[in-house]
Amino acid sequence: MAIYHPNEQPAPTYDAHTHLNDDALYFDVPAYLGRAHEFQVLEMNVVGYNREGNRRAIELAENNEGIAAVVGFQPEDTPDFDEQAKQELEEQVQNPVVVAVGEAGLDYHWDTDRAVQKAAFQAQIDLAKKMDLPIVIHNREAFDDVYRMLKTAGIQKAVIHSFSGTPEQAKAWADLGYYVSFSGVATFKKAEEVREAAKVVPIDQLLVETDAPYLAPTPFRGKTNEPGWTKYVVDSLAETLGMDRDHLAAQTVENAHRAFLNHD
Ligand SMILES: [Zn+2]
Repeated sequence: MAIYHPNEQPAPTYDAHTHLNDDALYFDVPAYLGRAHEFQVLEMNVVGYNREGNRRAIELAENNEGIAAVVGFQPEDTPDFDEQAKQELEEQVQNPVVVAVGEAGLDYHWDTDRAVQKAAFQAQIDLAKKMDLPIVIHNREAFDDVYRMLKTAGIQKAVIHSFSGTPEQAKAWADLGYYVSFSGVATFKKAEEVREAAKVVPIDQLLVETDAPYLAPTPFRGKTNEPGWTKYVVDSLAETLGMDRDHLAAQTVENAHRAFLNHD
């Protein structure tokens, strides 16, 4: 008779933000999904960022168990968010496999026109609100403007993707009732501030993600990231929070279900 060792296989995890729709992963989806399942990453959101990315996200969600789609325009792609693109997005969010709008937000690291970014972000805020869907937020070096736009719109359901700010900012998001999602950034040696930030977020507002193919966690930093490596984000975050890793994994799955799938 086989003896069951509870720690042999990690508890299932939900990758709240991954880009299997990115060229780096898209042409090998079955392999990446197989590996994700080996790591017990059984559910994930494939997140769009432009028209092609959004179409692929929906196609992957329609054809694979455990995948949900998020559709939107990331700041860098907002110059392409014309009237046609807007119309297509408005149709896509009606699809039942779509669980959120995004990723959307502001990025002041690159030099995409800020007025263009803001107009596209506002349109997506309005769409999320109209559809009563959560919005997945991309914020880079733009906290004040992102915070003001979300708060002014009265947005109540939002996910701060790949959080990389200060503990004060994490608390500000959490106080609005938003989910704060931690990626491989939280595993980087120099990211002490991000780990401190994780400690101020209530446990039922924490999510984990890879943002694959980007931001591979330690010990794979610099490599092509993949959804299965959510496991390493959970391991690291559990250590930061002094929690049992399987307990944290289960909690983040429950949070993701509540955030995206309307499970209580
Ligand atoms: Zn992303």
